[in-house]
Amino acid sequence: MTPSIERKRWNRVVRFGLGIAAAAAVAGVSVAPGVLAQTMPAQTVPVQVTTSASTLMTVGQTTSVQSLTLAETEGPYYKTNSPEVTNLVQDGMQGTLTTITGQVLDQNGQPVANAFLDFWQANASGAYDNSGYTLRGHQYTDANGYYTLTTIQPGLYPGRTEHIHVKVQAPNGPVLTTQLFFPGVAQNSRDSIYDPSLLLSVTSNADGTQNATFNFVVATA
Ligand code: FE
Repeated sequence: MTPSIERKRWNRVVRFGLGIAAAAAVAGVSVAPGVLAQTMPAQTVPVQVTTSASTLMTVGQTTSVQSLTLAETEGPYYKTNSPEVTNLVQDGMQGTLTTITGQVLDQNGQPVANAFLDFWQANASGAYDNSGYTLRGHQYTDANGYYTLTTIQPGLYPGRTEHIHVKVQAPNGPVLTTQLFFPGVAQNSRDSIYDPSLLLSVTSNADGTQNATFNFVVATA
């Protein structure tokens, strides 16, 4: 926990404690130090204490708690021990050159440094390399939680819309296995695994390449 977060929490506790003390004074109830409203029998809780507790809840609700990125099926083509690379593109590779950038965040919206990301995908014809490691690679986020993947937009294969598989793991956190999708692909609506929350935000460039962004929100413990 950073000092600033710790200080905010402490200030909140102090504020809450003062609220209880003030309310208790109004109601003529003595409250031992450290005794919170929740520990008092319901019938003895003065109205003012309830008000104070509501204020605390309002403060708590302003804290940014983000939903975890949706998990998706791994599929049959994951391989362990992918190379550590951020560029999956090889000479002569077909497909639209795509640079994906984003951050790995925790549920408070804070960047996760040194998070593991392992990408794997089909080529532009919809085929996976299951004998080697073409279009497979892992990397780690930088100090600000950023990652960059240079790749090509994958093709369709039977039963699936275009997608990139990925595993994401904060240091000491659980592994998130999910998939990223491309906007404007007709097959998205016919793919039962597709979910709009996993859509890349894509910008097309004049030179025929494209840039995309996606931020992951993962559990950190
Ligand atoms: Fe797949």
